[in-house]
Amino acid sequence: MKLLEDRIRKDGKVKGTDVLKVDSFLNHQMDVELFVQMGQELKRLYQGEEITKILTIEASGIGIACIAAQCFGVPVVFAKKTKTRNIAGDVYTSKVESFTHGKVYDIIVSKEFLLPGDKVLIIDDFLANGSALMGLISLVRDAGATVVGAGIAVEKAFQPGGKMIRDMGVRVESLARVKSMSEENGVEFC
Ligand code: 5GP
Repeated sequence: MKLLEDRIRKDGKVKGTDVLKVDSFLNHQMDVELFVQMGQELKRLYQGEEITKILTIEASGIGIACIAAQCFGVPVVFAKKTKTRNIAGDVYTSKVESFTHGKVYDIIVSKEFLLPGDKVLIIDDFLANGSALMGLISLVRDAGATVVGAGIAVEKAFQPGGKMIRDMGVRVESLARVKSMSEENGVEFC
């Protein structure tokens, strides 16, 4: 998606070799107009697919997911991150390794909000090693619901998550795919 790529080129900041900061329009301050365009693009990509629910993970996925949900006309459920292992019984749970901190944490979704008949589009801001997406897929499958696909804002295609998830047969649509990046030369797209 050219609009997002242009915005990343203009305002994205590469930290080290593997972190892209997009705080000025996506991860801290949010450009809602851009989100609307992204939501419409996801709607176009998943045209013809039956989707009953959007699932994302707190915190950064929520804004994008909410705006996209308006285009799809479905509710958003976000998986909550929890440090306590003392989890009540009426939730689905899985584990995610944080890309930025390296720590493993549990994510939970109430069984009330993921039902066996649901056709779920998973939305997240970044795809790196694929741990967040794997965790979300696992919640959907535990519920007996169907993963229609994933809609990702920024996929760092030089990291293994995208290939791993597509190899599992899950459709992944990324609005910007970063081929390579460095502090010196900035970001190059696929
Ligand atoms: P993964 O689980 O695929 O390794 O990483 C995805 C998650 O880590 C996303 O939910 C996102 O919050 C975070 N993340 C991974 N890479 C980046 C990055 O380069 N920049 C930012 N801002 N977040 C990232």
